[in-house]
Amino acid sequence: MNRRDFLKSALALAALAPVTRIVAGEPSSGGKSPKDQTEKVTRRRYKNTSLTLPLLGFGMMRLPRLNPEKNEIDESVAQKMVDRAMEAGINYFDTAYPYHGGLSETFVGKALKKYPRSSYFLATKMWPHLLKTEADIDRMFQHQLRKLQTNYIDFYLLHALDKRLWPKAKALKVYEYLQKQKKAGKIRYLGFSFHDEPEVLAEIVRERPWDFAQIQLNYVDWELYRSREQYEILTKAGIPVVVMEPLRGGMLTTLTPRCLEIFKKANPNASVASWAFRYVGSLPNVLVILSGMTLPEHLEDNIKTFTGFQPLSNAERETIAQAVKAYHNTGAVACTNCKYCMPCPAGVNIPRIFGLYNSYKSSGNYWRGFNRIYAEFDPDMMASACVNCGACVKKCPQHINIPEELKKIHAEYEARTKKTACLRRGKAECPA
Ligand code: SF4
Ligand code: SF4
Repeated sequence: MNRRDFLKSALALAALAPVTRIVAGEPSSGGKSPKDQTEKVTRRRYKNTSLTLPLLGFGMMRLPRLNPEKNEIDESVAQKMVDRAMEAGINYFDTAYPYHGGLSETFVGKALKKYPRSSYFLATKMWPHLLKTEADIDRMFQHQLRKLQTNYIDFYLLHALDKRLWPKAKALKVYEYLQKQKKAGKIRYLGFSFHDEPEVLAEIVRERPWDFAQIQLNYVDWELYRSREQYEILTKAGIPVVVMEPLRGGMLTTLTPRCLEIFKKANPNASVASWAFRYVGSLPNVLVILSGMTLPEHLEDNIKTFTGFQPLSNAERETIAQAVKAYHNTGAVACTNCKYCMPCPAGVNIPRIFGLYNSYKSSGNYWRGFNRIYAEFDPDMMASACVNCGACVKKCPQHINIPEELKKIHAEYEARTKKTACLRRGKAECPA
């Protein structure tokens, strides 16, 4: 996507009918320091109800640790962060059964015990991956209530749904169990978090009614991970969005030196993270943006960004578009997933392969970002099925040398697969 298209797409999305409303907000910039510590972060209204939620939520999966290699939470630092968050009006806490090896929910229960239950929102999740029988569902739910020291959960999610876990959750009737808990007053709002393609999301949205959904959304994934399509599906279905990975696991605070230079030049006082938060917060159907804050400095910087939250101006969108372009210059394929090249007469799924490859390039994680999915492709859809006919090249608006890129990607896949097999066999000499 060129810069003009990037801007156009972001503006078009801003025009989609929101199901959330900004409730409070004072002018601020990413670099301003709130002198008045009683200032509160901006809140958004849940649909047309009187319920308001802080635009910034506290993700409890990256809490400070006593030892970086272990799960134990540094509770004294984390408690101070929770207290400071509450003081700033950040009263949405998002945890999950497996976070910090199960210790996150226990900590959240302890940390919030001193506050009236009605003064904060608890969000937690049930991971179908951990369920074997229907009895496990109730066991896990009751365990969560005990750990969180509460008799109800405000926002309850089915965790990390994808094309494998959604059928499993349906077979185990997890949704039906959670609906019963909702009717019994143990759950206020029922949603899901999601990690897959928009087609799978559309199916989940079609098959059950949901109060909210949590998706991965940030300015790099907007096209790369097809977050734009996910956001559109949810907005059209009237489902408010909770954002996870607004910083792409912290990657958007480091990016590349060229990207950082672009941001600093545009606003020397704004933190790099504030650009990413303001990007997602400018989308009207975003209800809460989760930030997994590890250090008190992260929290303070975020409070500055979200106190009197300021949506991006057109000039600032342009700055982000420049940074995205610079980012794509660093090894990722410039594919924008427009699909103009499809169908390939040989059956190669071109945009999907480039999307996966780019996910690996931006995360640096070859196995999770690329191999995990690519290795399961039907051989006819793999890059190696390309017969170099050139039909796609003529149609690609980004002028990508598609057969060449496919060849490189598949060669890397084969080399890594060969090396891994060699290492597994315990050979002394394996390819570099
Ligand atoms: S060049 Fe390869 S990928 Fe492109 S259309 Fe032909 S066979 Fe498909
Ligand atoms: S490779 Fe295909 S999907 Fe990607 S930009 Fe080119 S035409 Fe669009």
